[in-house]
Amino acid sequence: MAVPKRHLSTSKRDRRRGNIFIKPITLVKCQKCGKPVLPHTICKFCGNYKGRDYLSVVSKVEKPIVKKTPKATKKKTA
Ligand SMILES: [Zn+2]
Repeated sequence: MAVPKRHLSTSKRDRRRGNIFIKPITLVKCQKCGKPVLPHTICKFCGNYKGRDYLSVVSKVEKPIVKKTPKATKKKTA
């Protein structure tokens, strides 16, 4: 089994671990819609990247209109 030749000082160990941390996510503004998006990626809101549309994104899908029928109408009196 490999054994370390020298004892690693706490200073050396902590300097190494000083770079281990979670970096905050960097976001850039979309050129078209202005929403925050990851850099070098297509905007998921409008499908634009570098001034070109790559995806056809439907922003809001409209729900089909369902007519509300009152429950009283189900019972038919003969
Ligand atoms: Zn966009």
